[in-house]
Amino acid sequence: MEKLRSHPKISRRIKGGKTTEYDAHMIPEAGPKMLARPYTNGMVVAGDAAGHLLNNGYTFRGVDIAIQSGVAAAHTILDARKTQDYSTRTLQGFERRLRSDPSLKDMYTFGRVPGYLRKNRLYTTYPELMCSIAEAVYRVDGTGKKKIFKELRTQAKGKVSIFSLVWDLIGGARTF
Ligand SMILES: Cc1cc2nc3c(=O)[nH]c(=O)nc-3n(C[C@H](O)[C@H](O)[C@H](O)COP(=O)(O)OP(=O)(O)OC[C@H]3O[C@@H](n4cnc5c(N)ncnc54)[C@H](O)[C@@H]3O)c2cc1C
Repeated sequence: MEKLRSHPKISRRIKGGKTTEYDAHMIPEAGPKMLARPYTNGMVVAGDAAGHLLNNGYTFRGVDIAIQSGVAAAHTILDARKTQDYSTRTLQGFERRLRSDPSLKDMYTFGRVPGYLRKNRLYTTYPELMCSIAEAVYRVDGTGKKKIFKELRTQAKGKVSIFSLVWDLIGGARTF
């Protein structure tokens, strides 16, 4: 932020300005594996506070999941109210509701994604590999072309093993 503020194009525009309000917010996107039990005696936790959020790489959903999780929490509380029993035993219905609600189920369906997206190779090695393979495949320089798989093996050398590459592909297919 400081770097942005001190950039010449920005700093002259905000010169003399006063901060009146600021907000920062963590996105709890580590998936259901990070979720602690979202209820205890006398309490249910919903939305971001409970980590109810989905980032599966191609969609990012916090708002709708927070709403649905709030609705599930409300129904759980209404059930508990009928018997005036707000103990863990009654409130555990919350987790059952979370897992059966079609929208919230998505959170569990894509539960492996956060772990998969932590692989550094996805952001470094593979994009570089794609670019270098494309360069080798499309460049016409009269030196002769290798078949694509052979080119892949050449370009991957020293960057990633074919075993890891295949493993990541299978992992991706199982995750998404
Ligand atoms: C930069 C960013 C971009 C996002 N983009 C998207 C998007 O494109 N699509 C999407 O679906 N989701 C998006 N989200 C996620 C989404 O905003 C959240 O998942 C959603 O708002 C969670 O709702 P919530 O009610 O659980 O929590 P919040 O919206 O955080 O609400 C919690 C409220 O509690 C208040 N509060 C905190 N402590 C106290 C206290 N002690 N006493 C009283 N009040 C308190 C806070 O002020 C806040 O108003 C984004 C989040 C961020 C940070």
